Amino acid sequence: NQTNIDMVDFAKGDNLLPAIVQHALSGEVLMQGYMNSEALQRTLASNKVTFYSRSKQRLWTKGESSGNTLELVSVHTDCDQDSLLILVKPAGPTCHLGTRSCFTDAQSQPMLQRLMDTIESRRGAPVDSSYTASLFAEGVKRAAQKVGEEGVEVALAAAAGDTKELLNESADLLYHLLVTLAARDLSINDVLDVLHQRHQS
Ligand code: AMP
Ligand code: ZN
Ligand code: ZN
Ligand code: ZN
Repeated sequence: NQTNIDMVDFAKGDNLLPAIVQHALSGEVLMQGYMNSEALQRTLASNKVTFYSRSKQRLWTKGESSGNTLELVSVHTDCDQDSLLILVKPAGPTCHLGTRSCFTDAQSQPMLQRLMDTIESRRGAPVDSSYTASLFAEGVKRAAQKVGEEGVEVALAAAAGDTKELLNESADLLYHLLVTLAARDLSINDVLDVLHQRHQS
């Protein structure tokens, strides 16, 4: 469904179709706007997501005043070509209220994003208040060591054929990997970016 602009049926939406903006790496839904044919054309030509703003009654390039643009990765249509899914890499917070997404309920986010946010919220917290806070306090070495331990536990559980153990140890591994990345001021999205680059070439 990679967009062939001629296939999009703008007439179905009275020339204005909903455009759902999703983070190309994390899968987080960032915002929803509307596009007419000109907005889509400008988006494809500039690689910056441009909507038709119903309140401004003109084309609106997201980030035109804030600088928080949405770099276009790809455009997709739905089954009957009357809705647009826009995958992006955001340059900053997408919501004008300063949050990463316009949808702020933690439960609405992809699970890994949610876990990363929880981990991030423990940074600098009192050491005895949480295990994550204590890992941060001990520096990257402790978290990295746990990645090694949990990795071995994953391998042993996989070899032993114990499914429940494999899933639990894999969860431990992912959690400690996220903390290790956070301790180095990186996120899982930086890792997903590497996978994304590899996938394109
Ligand atoms: P920006 O496009 O980020 O430069 O923001 C310009 C104006 O567009 C803001 O002052 C808001 O009125 C509006 N705006 C920006 N981002 C959003 C958004 N995610 N959802 C709705 N309105 C927005
Ligand atoms: Zn549809
Ligand atoms: Zn918003
Ligand atoms: Zn474990």
